This record gives sequence, C-alpha cells and structure tokens, in this order.
Amino acid sequence: MFDDKKFKYRMVYLVGVILAVLFINYMSTSITTKQISYNEFLKLVNEEKVEKVVLQKDRILIKAKPDSGYANKALYTGYLWDQELVKLLTSKNIEFTKEIPNNDPLLNIILYWVAPIIIFMILGRFIFGRLDKKMGGGVMSFGKNTAKLYAENETGKTFKDVAGQEEAKESLVEIVDFLHNPQKYAEIGAKLPKGALLVGPPGTGKTLLAKAVAGEAKVPFFSMSGSDFVELFVGMGASRVRDLFRQAEEKAPCIIFIDEIDAIGKSRDGSLQGNDEREQTLNQLLAEMDGFDSSKGVVILAATNRPEVLDKALLRPGRFDRRVIVDRPDLKGRESILKVHIKDVKLGDDVDLSSVAKGTPGAVGADLANIVNEAALRAVKHNRKVVLQEDLEEAVEVIIAGKEKKDRILSDKEKRIVAFHEVGHALVAALLNNTDPVHKITIVPRTMGALGYTMQLPTEEKYLVSKEEMLDQITVMLGGRAAEEVEFNIISTGASNDIERATQTARSMVTIYGMTDRFDMMALESINSRYLDGRPVQNCSAETAALIDEETLKIIKECHDKAINILKDNKPLFTKISEVLIEKETLLGEEFMAMVNEYKNEAEPVKEEQ
Ligand code: ADP
Ligand code: MG
Ligand code: ZN
Repeated sequence: MFDDKKFKYRMVYLVGVILAVLFINYMSTSITTKQISYNEFLKLVNEEKVEKVVLQKDRILIKAKPDSGYANKALYTGYLWDQELVKLLTSKNIEFTKEIPNNDPLLNIILYWVAPIIIFMILGRFIFGRLDKKMGGGVMSFGKNTAKLYAENETGKTFKDVAGQEEAKESLVEIVDFLHNPQKYAEIGAKLPKGALLVGPPGTGKTLLAKAVAGEAKVPFFSMSGSDFVELFVGMGASRVRDLFRQAEEKAPCIIFIDEIDAIGKSRDGSLQGNDEREQTLNQLLAEMDGFDSSKGVVILAATNRPEVLDKALLRPGRFDRRVIVDRPDLKGRESILKVHIKDVKLGDDVDLSSVAKGTPGAVGADLANIVNEAALRAVKHNRKVVLQEDLEEAVEVIIAGKEKKDRILSDKEKRIVAFHEVGHALVAALLNNTDPVHKITIVPRTMGALGYTMQLPTEEKYLVSKEEMLDQITVMLGGRAAEEVEFNIISTGASNDIERATQTARSMVTIYGMTDRFDMMALESINSRYLDGRPVQNCSAETAALIDEETLKIIKECHDKAINILKDNKPLFTKISEVLIEKETLLGEEFMAMVNEYKNEAEPVKEEQ
C-alpha cells in the first residue's frame, strides 16, 4: 500500500541530506583555503614567501612558507596566461609543477556527492530503524498502527487450553458462533454485543481467553495493549485506533483485542490535570465503536483488572456492554488448570493433583502454571525422569515462601525461638475451634524472608468467613509472638509480619464487615481496586478514625491475651512439640496432630471457652 505520510517523511529527509552535504563541502573548502589576487601572488613570490606552486587548469595552488602569515591555508588564485611566471619561479627557486588535468566529472560527482549521500542514507536507516523499534511503531510511519495480525493457527489456543473458567467460556461461546456465521444472526435481526470486557485479577487467563476465542472462531486476531496507544506525540494514539479499525474491517470477520484497556480507558473526570493524548485516543475508540457495523462480524474484546477506573462511556450499551468475569479459580478449577499444564509432564505414580489444588487457595492460573514448571525443574535437578508429589509440594512452597535457604545458619538460640514461635501458631490453631487444620510446620529458612512458617490449609473452599473465624485467625497470627513471651519472656522482631496481618484483619472487621457493636453496620472504608491488592480508603471523619483505632486495638488485645492463655494452659504439650520441631526441623500435619491428640487423651486438657 502506498503510504503518503511515509513518502513525505522520506522526501524531507532526502532534502535535508542534500543540504547537509552542500554545507559540508562548502565549509571544508572555505576553512582550509583562501583565494588571493594575482598581484598578491606575485608579491609573495618576489618576497620569497612561497614554497611550492601547482598549476592547475583554471587555478594556481600556492603553498606559502610558514612565515608568510598564511601558514595553515592552501592559497589559490586564478590561472593567467603569464609567460613570465615560469621564469620568475625558476629564478626564485620555487618548486612548481603543472597538474595533469583530471577531467572526469563523473568521478568528482561520485566523490563529493553520491558517496556522502549514500552514507547519510545508510545512517538514517540505522537511526530511524532503532527509533522504530523502540516506539513499537515508526518515525518513518507515524501513526501507522502495529496491530499484529495473528492468524488462527498463530494464536494456537482453544477453549481446551483455558481451564476452570466455565462461566466465562460459556458467555464467549456465543461470540464464537457469531463469528462463524454472522448471517445467521443478521437474518433473524439479532444484534450481538459489539464488545465484551474481560474483568478479573492478574494471571487468571484473560489474555489467554481472548486468544482462545479467536482460535475457536478461526478468525484473525488483532491484538494491541492499551499502553501501545499511549504515544509519544499527541494525536498518534487516536490515529492508531483509526488504523486498527480500518485494518480489522478489511479482514472481517475478526477479533480486535485491546489488552489492559484501563491504560486508555481511565475515567476522564476526576483527574486534575487532563491527559489530552489519552482523552483523544479514548474518544477515537468510542467513535470507532459507535461507527462500525457489527453485522460484518468484527467483535471487540478488551481486558482489564481495574474495571472501576474505566470511563463510564466505555460501558454504555453498544460498546463494552457485556462483562465477562474471569475470577480466581475455585478448588475444582485449580485442579483442572493443573491438569492442563501438566499434560506434557511425565508424572510419578504418587502425584495427587487434587491435594496440590487444596494446598493452593487463592492461586491464579499463572501461579499454577508456574508451580508445575518449578516442580518439573526440581525433578530434573534431582536427576529424576518423572515429577513426584514432593516436587509439586516443594514448588508450592517456593511460590508461597521462596526457595529453601540452606546456607543460612541460625544460632541454636535463634533456632529455639523460631521453633517455639511456629509451634505457638500451630498449637493455637489446633486448640481453637474455628480454624483451618495445620498442614506443615517448618523452621527451614526461605529466601523470601521467613525463618520458619506454619502452613494451614482449609478443608473446603470457603466463600463466607464468620466473625468467630476471623477472631480465631487473628489469635493464631498472634500465637507466634505469644509463644515467645510465654517461653522466653522476651519479644523479638520475628513477628512483624504476623502483627501487620493481624492488624489488617482486625481493622477490616471494624471498618468493612460491620462486626463491632460500636459502629454497627456502617461502612467506614471502601476498597478501591477489588482485583488488585488495593488499599482501602477511609471515608470517615478524623474523630471516627481515632475510634476505629481504639476498636481495632481492643480486638487485637483480646486475641493476644487469648493466645497467651492457650499456650500457658497447655505448656507441657507446647514445650514437647517445640523440642521435637527443633530436632526434626519440619513437622507434617499428621505428626503434629498425633502429638496433640495423644496429649488430649492423656491429661484432659483445659478446653478453651469461645
Ligand atoms: P491475564 O491476562 O488474566 O493476566 P494471562 O492470560 O496472561 O492472564 O495468563 C498467564 C498465563 O497463566 C497463561 O499463559 C497460562 O499459561 C496461565 N493461565 C492463566 N489462567 C489459566 C487458565 N484458566 N487455564 C490455564 N492456564 C491459565
Ligand atoms: Mg493479560
Ligand atoms: Zn509468625
């Protein structure tokens, strides 16, 4: 396709190069040479200030002596038919010669013009080529969009590759069918939504789903990321949007996918200084979406993990009016995602994917893909031909807590403190009623900072958490510090993370979940970005904020006391398990519970009242 913008830029560059060469040629001669009059030339000769003379066809080149005042310049003067000159030069003993004329104008042109221009052109290509790459677009092709054209065999994804997102797939099946056969819908007069917005936390498979839709429908897939539109120059983003839609219309039926649309689709009001570029881009997108005829079979998919910041105009009917939630997978979903990724991995007989799925509440597809890969790497490291359950379990821990740090040596004293701390968590968890069972306790340090940790796993997927459960969670979190106080009567820095999490939970009980009498069911905070780890925003007066702190502190104090009491009342068990942990460094849930149960049967333990 002939692109006139490109042509214009090429021309401007070419003219620039010619001017530059002219200038350089001129400068290089005017700095180093000087024309003098014939009289002056004769005067210099007579004063014996000339060293050498070259007679050319139309000029005489003069090399003056250093004391002539022209030391650094090549002098020249016009050639005259002067019969006396030869005599004069001979008498003054000046070396002179007549140059054999080099009358090849072609050579001159090549030397002074063609060669420099070629060099400049090569240089220009090089420089602009680099810029092109950097900006993902092109200086030579301003505004020309770079939407990659993915043919169906290139996305290579189908719905089979996306696991655990059954509802999302269901609502996209219709779009696939529409792309297969737009006429069927047109004949009845049914209009399909122009666009669907995939919404969910990072790593849940939104991008993957969009590719799968294109793969299933066997249509071209134009994908661009929102940040691609935000250009160096104002107006470029808008022109990219325009180009993208022109290209897509030519290829219909097809899919346009705009990943991370929040980069351009951010709400226009509410920001203090406007962003012209983004606004123009967004306006262009809205105009294009309104303008094109959806019966041709162009479907626009977009993905975001921050739906709440999107401009309302984007969500109006006729635009992204269909919302597809791509949320964190549940237990069953996690298991099927693991199955998808483990397809090509050789497995040992002991592998139990459902137990891995149980051990990874909250993990998204990207995490699970990562876990499978880590496990395979570990199997290779241990020179095994198959992946075993232990590889998978270690991989889960690596994703959660970082790699084992074998080279970190704790002093015996520190090791004791860490062991009692972890057993503190575990024992409080085991002796309270509304807690998840302990899966593992370890005091092997990990790279992500933990000196040890206690892993609890829910027996079943929970969607609602009761007030009692939250209080017990806080008590378990504070069990570590409580243990240090009960056993050593010291407090260390090891509990900072526990304290932070406990405080957050307690605060959210007060401000978000309406679990205190003082504030009843008043929402005092709202969470900004639900799908990211958004910080809650307080919406209350300063006086209320102080009261919130008071309430939060009250909860924490109560839970702290309770943890201390549990450990004091069961001191023999607490000490015994801690000693075993120091010995073994890692205790599995069953081993731990065996000791707890044995103790319970022996000496009727003090039952904590709730
Ligand atoms: P998002 O766009 O939501 O941030 P991606 O689609 O980029 O997430 O997912 C990243 C990777 O994680 C995918 O390439 C895939 O390997 C894996 N993944 C994520 N979700 C799923 C899923 N539901 N099923 C299978 N694999 C998944
Ligand atoms: Mg993505
Ligand atoms: Zn702790």
